[in-house]
Amino acid sequence: MFAELLTIGDELTRGEIVDTNSAWLAAQLWDLDVAVRWKTSCRDDEDDMRAALAAATARADLVITSGGLGPTEDDLTCEIVASAAGAPIAIDEAARQKLELFLASRGRTVSEVNLRQARVPAGARVHANPAGLAPAFEVALGGVPVVCLPGVPREIYAIWEAGLRARVDELRRSSGAAPRIARRVYRIFGRAESQLSEALRGLVDGYPGASLHYQVKFPEVLVKLVVRDPDAAAATARHDELDAQLRARVGRWIYGTGDDPLPLVLGRALLDAGVRVAVAESCTGGMVGALLTELAGSSGYFVGGAIVYANEEKVRQLGVSPATLDAHGAVSEETVVEMAKGVRARTGADLGVAVSGVAGPGGGSADKPVGTVWLAVDGPGAATRTFRMQWPGARDQVRTLAAWWALELLRQALPPSASEERP
Ligand code: ATP
Repeated sequence: MFAELLTIGDELTRGEIVDTNSAWLAAQLWDLDVAVRWKTSCRDDEDDMRAALAAATARADLVITSGGLGPTEDDLTCEIVASAAGAPIAIDEAARQKLELFLASRGRTVSEVNLRQARVPAGARVHANPAGLAPAFEVALGGVPVVCLPGVPREIYAIWEAGLRARVDELRRSSGAAPRIARRVYRIFGRAESQLSEALRGLVDGYPGASLHYQVKFPEVLVKLVVRDPDAAAATARHDELDAQLRARVGRWIYGTGDDPLPLVLGRALLDAGVRVAVAESCTGGMVGALLTELAGSSGYFVGGAIVYANEEKVRQLGVSPATLDAHGAVSEETVVEMAKGVRARTGADLGVAVSGVAGPGGGSADKPVGTVWLAVDGPGAATRTFRMQWPGARDQVRTLAAWWALELLRQALPPSASEERP
């Protein structure tokens, strides 16, 4: 089964926004074993939209569009799809009532312009939009299902979860695309794609329908293990077997599986372990704190800390010794150890993490080239753990990597049960 994604909007073709909708939808479809063969973007222009829709329905088994379902005059998707289907436009009663309630809560009544958002082609299958007012809908054009979604990304995510995923799976099965898919995404930080593919070489050999895929999603790498089989139980059994083998080879590098990146996985692990952390940041300028507060409920494990860019602030806020700074410099093992100990002592946190580095592009030297970052984690009991990162990349990459390494070191400092996999 082949799909085409058609994203509609002047903002897209003028380059004012990046088309994240088609990337997100393509990944969801891939999960369902529906291959996206074409992605098209077009303007909010009637002729262009008609042409793009005709081309898509002529070559794909499923078309999903985004954009152009709003209330304004340039929102044309409903008209164009209705006319292509030879259907009049109708008002979706559930969407009208939702609109009425929404506006009533603001002391307003539904105007004709507002009502445009509740339009669907008569007879269309309506997909509820839990995150917005415009319903998504689906019609068949020349026998090809065409699903029209609003443009706002979070509305698309909500529509997908609320029922569209199940509907696409149903369409896939009814199209005769029998193979069932078992898949898992393994998330790894701190290892290169090449190291992983080396470690996993030959893993799926001799397993019919099994494949491994690598995706570099800076700063981490995702490994996807996929097994296709007409029999869902057989796919799952083979997948479980391969999962055990994959973990035996690279399990110590895996920090999690599924959709959640390291900041969320770590946040949950810290909550579970009842461990409170504080940060002492120089070159990351607050990025570690920002990552540590991504998870709702982060006050359960994050106490705060200090952004100490200037040496005087390292001394004043964290008690780093001027003699240490003079002897070893700000980017040194000795300094980050004192920063980590200082922030832990001053906040009373269980773990203190410190980062100091040369983010570049200037400021490097022969013994501390651009991309040198020292990190330390101080906790109760054991000696302060330090780590030297060296990454010859651009400033934003160095800073992002350094912030993620701070998280990874915190993860490694947790008791084994608190974190999904151990390094
Ligand atoms: P609205 O009710 O806001 O008019 P709509 O269904 O008409 O919704 P658009 O107006 O096309 O959708 O887009 C609404 C907003 O959604 C855009 O301003 C943009 O921020 C975002 N958006 C639209 N298309 C995309 C896309 N392909 N990728 C990412 N964001 C998008």
